[in-house]
Amino acid sequence: MSFATLWESLLPIGRDGLSGGYRRFSWTPEDAACRAWFTQAAAERDLRVLTDRNGNLWAWWDPPGGPDARPPAGAAGDSGAPSPRAGAGAVVTGSHLDSVPDGGAFDGPLGVVSAFAAVDMLRERGCLPARPLAIAAFSEEEGARFGVACLGSRLLAGAIDPGAARALADAAGVTLAEAMAAAGHDPDGIGPDDGLLAAVGAYVELHIEQGRALADLDAAIAVGEQIWPHGRWRLDFTGRPDHAGTAILADRRDPMLPFAGAVLAARQAAASHGARATVGKVTAEPGAVNAVSARVSAWLDARAPDEPTLQAVVGEVLAAAQEAAAGHGVELAAEPESVTPAVMFDQGLRDGLASSLAGRGIQAPVLPTGAGHDAGVLAARVPTAMLFVRNPTGVSHSPAEHAEPADCAAGVRALAAVLEDLVGR
Ligand SMILES: [Zn+2]
Repeated sequence: MSFATLWESLLPIGRDGLSGGYRRFSWTPEDAACRAWFTQAAAERDLRVLTDRNGNLWAWWDPPGGPDARPPAGAAGDSGAPSPRAGAGAVVTGSHLDSVPDGGAFDGPLGVVSAFAAVDMLRERGCLPARPLAIAAFSEEEGARFGVACLGSRLLAGAIDPGAARALADAAGVTLAEAMAAAGHDPDGIGPDDGLLAAVGAYVELHIEQGRALADLDAAIAVGEQIWPHGRWRLDFTGRPDHAGTAILADRRDPMLPFAGAVLAARQAAASHGARATVGKVTAEPGAVNAVSARVSAWLDARAPDEPTLQAVVGEVLAAAQEAAAGHGVELAAEPESVTPAVMFDQGLRDGLASSLAGRGIQAPVLPTGAGHDAGVLAARVPTAMLFVRNPTGVSHSPAEHAEPADCAAGVRALAAVLEDLVGR
């Protein structure tokens, strides 16, 4: 089967030799290698590859007769999408190829590799799509370089201002516009692409399970129900730099102390509300072992089953951080970097997935997720659904992230079943 060959050809790209984790950040050489891998996988299958104006990759399997009256090649925003027409639009599947720092191999790539393998499976069965079918790989899904998750799909869907996106900067101060231009992609063209979205009739994203539920349910596959509301908040604690050996404790304005209080408050608030709150990124300036910091910047990631609960969790963390900052003579500035409301996946499409799987004897419970996905962004514009593949430990965003080969194969079979029913014939 093609899954293992494809999977192994992608594995070496962007893998850190020390941690074993992945560092595939958008518009870097590793990203370019992932794009080349995608393009080759598509070329091997005679799929038309196009990069949309926002840098997302699309590999199109046209129905017999070719793409329907698509715009002239090279036209602005030409993504190779067939023009919209009455009835069912294109069926799109896929995910993303970028990673968090030292991320696992499966988050994102499993959906893209499974999509190619599912196309192979459909062709082996002699399936000819009555609707166009595309495999998509969305850019900067993790937000690991420029700080905004699902950046490629947000731009596509008009969920972020293109000018604000161009000005986003990475840790080295390189803007998205500069990074895109350096990688050969025109940053002036980014922004909403309503023509492309209008051609999409359904988006189905297969993804590794994040968190552990399927192991206890003894099932390899789940159908996604909703994505919890979630967001990122930046907290800047500004104190006064001083000498670690000589500054007496009573005189210090040490921003590290209220920062520590905020981290503990996040855990407590999450536990008391049945939610998640994490501080996974922090920087200290000047960052010297023998100095009281001038400033500590931290990022809070919070997620909850519903929006009032999310607001309650974040409110408690920020209140505790403010109180701790005041107690240490430290200034606190806190602001949201991105907040995403709850997303319910399309009921009709979910029911379709469930019946496609049930019809083939595939058991698939319905599960919510606390993780954001391009599917969550696109759900505002097109009918969207997700399939999850069992992760036996639940660990994700880590080199320990894993899915058994048998479960990956089950994922391909499930995706192929769903796509076969959606594209018809
Ligand atoms: Zn992902």
